[in-house]
Amino acid sequence: MNTRLALADLAASAFRKDRPGLAAKALRRIIGRVWSDGFASAFYSHNRGKPALWPGKSACLTLSFDCDHEADYRAMPELLDALAGEGLSASFACIAKWVELDPDSHLELIRRGHELVNHTYTHPSNSRFHPDERFNEITPGARREEIEMADRIIRVRLNYRPSGFRTPHFGDSHTRDVYSVLAGIGYRYSSSRISIQCPGYGMPYRESDGIWEFPLSFDPAYPNTCFDTYNRFPRTDGPVPAEQENAFFGRIEKIIGMAMDTGSYVNLYFDPSDIGRLGRFRDFIRFLGSLKTRLWVAPYERILNEWSRNSV
Ligand SMILES: [Zn+2]
Repeated sequence: MNTRLALADLAASAFRKDRPGLAAKALRRIIGRVWSDGFASAFYSHNRGKPALWPGKSACLTLSFDCDHEADYRAMPELLDALAGEGLSASFACIAKWVELDPDSHLELIRRGHELVNHTYTHPSNSRFHPDERFNEITPGARREEIEMADRIIRVRLNYRPSGFRTPHFGDSHTRDVYSVLAGIGYRYSSSRISIQCPGYGMPYRESDGIWEFPLSFDPAYPNTCFDTYNRFPRTDGPVPAEQENAFFGRIEKIIGMAMDTGSYVNLYFDPSDIGRLGRFRDFIRFLGSLKTRLWVAPYERILNEWSRNSV
């Protein structure tokens, strides 16, 4: 391993600590400010030369959307049209309470060829359904109930079998006990962690109980977080300033370039309600469409189905 990769590995270890000390926190900040591109490039370089995982393509990308609030559903028609314009399928993490309230919106997602992901029954800490408690603060039994209940409702109300899960707020709210629950109801994957905190340099990997974890790609400028529009563009009345948006999408496009260069995987998450605030989002979707010959844009389940066919 060359020095640059070894240094990036050492730096990445600062992000894997559950309770980072002062030194690890300082290192995180320094990397984001002064070594973001170099660090990200070294991180993805570890995947160069690994066995080809993406059928006929250089890299793979999943577009995922968490549907937590009414505003997310209001934004859905515009979002679905943008995706359809480029023939892209995405993964939508859905709360079963919303499925009960608005089954038609979810049936439309399925009809349009998108994937539904179990995002719990009430989404602990959701202001409408379950305020005041985060997913990691409820009991293991309550976590199991949240997942199993959502699974039942999605299957019965939508006649759809989900095969994956996303922890509400993922990252720090995620707990490892979910994997045995997921295995118990026949699920195949979770997408609930940030890649920098995981083994495998952003690639999907197996967690306990045989469950695949598809980690969310980290934002090089804020390496312990994903490309999070919610935190990056705090609520304001007006649209997001163009220079902030350009920098944000510029970083995503750079990561996609690094992934195509190294055979890596990119896993993005957006809130549908933010799409209307981001003037460049449609351009970004067109950009993804233009990369189709080299970049495989696929929902989680489709990737696993492809791997099953090829015995990965
Ligand atoms: Zn959520």
